[in-house]
Amino acid sequence: MGLRLFNTLHRQVEEFVPFDPEARSVGMYCCGPTVYDFGHIGNFRTFLFSDLVRRYLVFRGYKVRAVMNITDVEDKIIKRVRESGQSLAEFTGRYTQAFLEDLAILGALVPDDLPRATAFIPHIIELIRRLEERGIAYRAADGSVYFSIDKYRGCGCRYGQLVNLDPEAQRRTERVTGDEYDKENAADFALWKARVPEDGDVAWDSPWGPGRPGWHIECSAMSMALLGPSFDLHLGGEDLAFPHHEDEIAQSEGSALQAPGRPFVKHWLHAAHLLVDGKKMAKSLGNFFTVRDLTARGYLGREIRFLLLSAHYRETFNFTQEGLEGARSALGRIDSLLERLTELAAGGVPDGISKLPAAITEALDEDLNVSKAWAAVFDWTRDINAALATGRLTPSAAASELAGWERADSVLGLGRKPSEAVPAEVLQMVEARTAAKKAKDFARADALRDELKSKGWTVEDTKNGPKPKRL
Ligand code: AMP
Ligand code: ZN
Repeated sequence: MGLRLFNTLHRQVEEFVPFDPEARSVGMYCCGPTVYDFGHIGNFRTFLFSDLVRRYLVFRGYKVRAVMNITDVEDKIIKRVRESGQSLAEFTGRYTQAFLEDLAILGALVPDDLPRATAFIPHIIELIRRLEERGIAYRAADGSVYFSIDKYRGCGCRYGQLVNLDPEAQRRTERVTGDEYDKENAADFALWKARVPEDGDVAWDSPWGPGRPGWHIECSAMSMALLGPSFDLHLGGEDLAFPHHEDEIAQSEGSALQAPGRPFVKHWLHAAHLLVDGKKMAKSLGNFFTVRDLTARGYLGREIRFLLLSAHYRETFNFTQEGLEGARSALGRIDSLLERLTELAAGGVPDGISKLPAAITEALDEDLNVSKAWAAVFDWTRDINAALATGRLTPSAAASELAGWERADSVLGLGRKPSEAVPAEVLQMVEARTAAKKAKDFARADALRDELKSKGWTVEDTKNGPKPKRL
C-alpha cells in the first residue's frame, strides 16, 4: 500500500500517483503569504502542513520540487505601501524576510522556489494574452481584463470542479471591489486591473495599458512557469478552494497548454483552519498571534510547530495557551528520552531496526494521519523508557532507536532540544569540583556542589564525565 491522500477534486481519499511514477518526481505548489504584515500562526498551520507533505514525500522516496509563491502585489499591499511612504519593493521585502525567518524558527524547509508575483509579470501578461486569443478573456472600457466564465464553459470546460456548491451564488457573496464594475457578468473575475490613481506608481505596462495583475492569475502563471502546465500537487488553506483555486483551474485549463486529457493539477489538498474560540484565526477578526508574539513569551519554534502539526490537517482545532503548554510537556518527554538514549548510545553501533519509522509510515500513508503518528511516537517513548528502566537496552540498541528517531524526525522536523548555554562560571565550578574529588578533598567538592545549587545548577556524573544540568 502506498500513500493515500484526500483529493478535493474528487472529494475522496485516493492513492497518490504522480504524473511520472517511474521517475518518482513530484511537483508541488502551495499558495504562499501575502506580504503586507507578519503572518499569523493560522497561516503557518497551512505552511507547516505543506512542509509536512513535502518532507513525507521525500521520506517515501520521491524527488520533490516544492514551490511557494510570495504575493507581493495586491490591494492590501498597495494600501499599506501608500500609508508607509516606502516603495513596493522595500515594503514587501521586509515582510518577505520576516516570513522566511518565521519559517526557519518553525523548522520548515525553505521551498525550492519562492517566486514573487512582481518577478513574473511577463509570464502573467503572456497567459492573459493567450486567454484573450482563445476568446475567454475580454477587455473592459477602463483597460481591465476579465475572465469570462460563460466563454470558458462554452469551450467545453467545467467551472466548479473543486466546490459542489453553486459557484455563482458563492461569488455573489464575495467582496466585489469598486474597480470591477465593468464586468459583463457578475461571476467574472479580473485578470488584469487597470491602473487607478490610488495605485501610485505600482503599475506595469501591458498590451491593455498600465495596470497590475489580479491575484488568481499570479498563481496560474507562476506554477505553470516553474512546474509545467500539469503538475502533481497543489495545496493551500481551505478558504482558498473557492474562488482562488477554482479560478486557477479555469485560467490554467482555459489556456489549453496541457497535454490532451491532462488536468492542470492532479491532487488538490486543502488544510483546515486554525481557530480561536471556534472562529477562524484571522487578521480581520483581530484574534491572531504571530510567531513573534509567541517566541516573545518564551515559546520555542519547535513547540509551536508541534502544536500546529498536532491535529489532522482536515480538522480544524482551537489554538489555546494550554495547547501550547501541552506541546511543551509532550516535547519534554521526547527530549528527555533522546538525552538518555544519546548517553547510552555513545560508542554503540546500530545493530537493529527501530519500529518507529514503520509505525510513522503506516500512520501517514493514511491521508497523513498525524494524530496516529504522534500516538506512535508516544507508544515508542513509553516502550523505550520501560526498556531503559529495566537496564535491558544495550548501547547498540540505543543507537538503533536513535537512528529510528532521526528518520522519523526527518518528517516531523522537531530537531533536538537546543543545548542550554552553560555560564563560564558554572563550568569553572564543575571543573574545580572534579579536581577536588580527584584530590579526595570531599569537603571542597561538596561545598562547590552547594554553591552550584544556589546558582540553580547541579552536576550529573555520567559515563562521559561530569555534566552541568539546570535544576
Ligand atoms: P494569506 O497570507 O492571507 O494570503 O494566507 C496565506 C495562507 O494561509 C492561505 O493558504 C490561507 O488559506 C491560510 N490561512 C489563513 N488563515 C488561516 C487559518 N486561520 N488557519 C489555517 N490557514 C489559514
Ligand atoms: Zn494561489
